[in-house]
Amino acid sequence: MLENEDQPIREMPLCMETIQRLAMFGITFKIEFYAAGFQTEIHIRPDDIPRFLDHAPLFVASYFGVTLEQYYDWLETDGYPRCSARIGTDRPCKRPVLGVQCGPKEWALRDGGLCEFHRH
Ligand SMILES: [Zn+2]
Repeated sequence: MLENEDQPIREMPLCMETIQRLAMFGITFKIEFYAAGFQTEIHIRPDDIPRFLDHAPLFVASYFGVTLEQYYDWLETDGYPRCSARIGTDRPCKRPVLGVQCGPKEWALRDGGLCEFHRH
């Protein structure tokens, strides 16, 4: 769902009046997903639904306070920040900086740090 691969769904017309009417009856909108060791729930205000549907990954990255690239890298590394030390002929080490998975914001702060091996 968060990969924006459902092009036909993106092209369906969006009726904001219906969304606003549902919201008036107390119906809420929530994204739930599991990624990189974290269960996430994001409540979406009705006014934000077009922005979410336009580019879900960008919306989620913004919610987490990270860039789109950081969000994708967080997913790709399964939440483990990568070591930036150089090994051999300028190849990045990329071993995990921590032994635990981080949420996107903490991941972004710690990615590029040093692994246990390169700290000492
Ligand atoms: Zn390292």
